[in-house]
Amino acid sequence: MNKKKLGFETNSIRNQLERTQYQEHSVPLFLTSSFIFEDAEDMRASFSEEKERNIYSRFSNPNTSEFVEKICQMEGAEEGYAFATGMAAVFSTFAALLNAGDHVVSAGSVFGSTHALFTKYFPKWNIETSYFNINQPETIEQFIKPNTKILYAESPTNPAVDIIDLELLANIAKKHNLILIIDNCFATPYLQNPIAFGADIVIHSATKLIDGQGRVLGGIAVGRADLIREIYLFSRNTGPALSPFNAWVLSKSLETLAVRVEKHCDNALKIATFLESNANVQTVKYPFLPSHPQFEIAKKQMRLGGNIVSFEIKGGLAAGRAFLDKIKMCSLSANLGDTRTIVTHPASTTHSKLSVEERLSVGITDGLVRVSVGLETVEDVVNDLQQALG
Ligand SMILES: *Cc1c(COP(=O)(O)O)cnc(C)c1O
Repeated sequence: MNKKKLGFETNSIRNQLERTQYQEHSVPLFLTSSFIFEDAEDMRASFSEEKERNIYSRFSNPNTSEFVEKICQMEGAEEGYAFATGMAAVFSTFAALLNAGDHVVSAGSVFGSTHALFTKYFPKWNIETSYFNINQPETIEQFIKPNTKILYAESPTNPAVDIIDLELLANIAKKHNLILIIDNCFATPYLQNPIAFGADIVIHSATKLIDGQGRVLGGIAVGRADLIREIYLFSRNTGPALSPFNAWVLSKSLETLAVRVEKHCDNALKIATFLESNANVQTVKYPFLPSHPQFEIAKKQMRLGGNIVSFEIKGGLAAGRAFLDKIKMCSLSANLGDTRTIVTHPASTTHSKLSVEERLSVGITDGLVRVSVGLETVEDVVNDLQQALG
C-alpha cells in the first residue's frame, strides 16, 4: 500500500501497527518497559542499530511509533520523536541542536514556558535569544548574528491569534543557513503543514487539539531526518519519552482529528462573526475573518481558521474580569483545544506578571479575551457569551 497516496483521514485511521496473532481490529496497548531478544547475536545487532526494533520504551515503543508515524505522514516529515509533554518536545529539540555560545532568533509572542526557557534557563548555558515582533517580519534579519542557529515561531500565536508568513520565514532561514522550527500547535497537522513551506522541524503540544478531549499530555517533534536523529539520541539518553498509554490515546484521537477540527473551526467562525456584531466588543481577531490583518496569509497557509478566537472587550481590565465572572456554561481554564469551550482573560491571569508594555508587545491588551471554541452546540456557546457581554 502506497501510504503517500492515501487521504488525510484514511492515513489517520488505516495507518496502524501490524496485527498480532489475535487479529485484533483496534490497536492494543503495549504496556511494556522493555522487549526481549532471540539470542546474543539478535541483541548485538539491535543495540548496534543494524536492526530496527524496539529495545526499551524510553527509546521506542509500538504505540509511540504508530503515533509518530501518523504525524510524520500528516506533516510530510521524514522522521519524528514523541515526548511526554509539548514542553519536553520544545526543550529537547533546542537542547539537542544548540551548543553553548549559539544564538536563537524567536518571535516574541511564543508560549509562556517556551519564553521562560529562552529567558531564564538558556542563559545558564550561554545561549542567547533575540525577539522579533511577529507583526514586523521585515525586522527579522536585523536580529541575525554570525552565531544564530535557530529561527523559531508559532502561527497562529497565543493568545493574540497573529499570523506570520511561513514561506517568508523559510526564505530567511535558507538565506542565513538557520534551522527553522515552527510550533504548529494552534493549527494542528490538519490545518497547516509548515514543512511544505520550508520549515525544518515542526513541534506540537499533543495535549491540545490532537488529544482534543482534555485527557492526556503529550508532545512531538517531526522533520528532517538528520535533525530528528540528534533529537532522538538526546532524548533516548535523557528520558522525556511519551508513555505508551498516552501514545495509544493520542493515536486514537488522530482517527477523529479531521472531523473534530472541521467542527471546531466551523463553530469558531460562527462565534467570531457573532462577536463582530456585538456592541460591547471593540475588535475581533480570527484568522479566517476578512478583518484579520493577515487574512490573505492565513488563507494561503491554513486550510481553515482554527479554534481560537480573541476579542477586545470594551472597558479594559475591569470589563474583562466582569465578563469571566458572568460566564455560566463555558469553562474558565488554562487549557485549550478541548471539546469544552474555554474562556480566559490573559491580562488578569496568565500574563498578569508582565508589565503593560510587555503585554502590548505580544498583542495582549487589557480587554483581550481568548476563546478556545469547543464542540458544544454553537448556539449555546453564543448565548453564554452574549449574556456575559450583556
Ligand atoms: C500548550 C502549548 C505548549 C506546551 O505543551 P504542554 O503539552 O502543555 O507541555 C507549547 N506550545 C504551545 C503553542 C502550546 O499551546
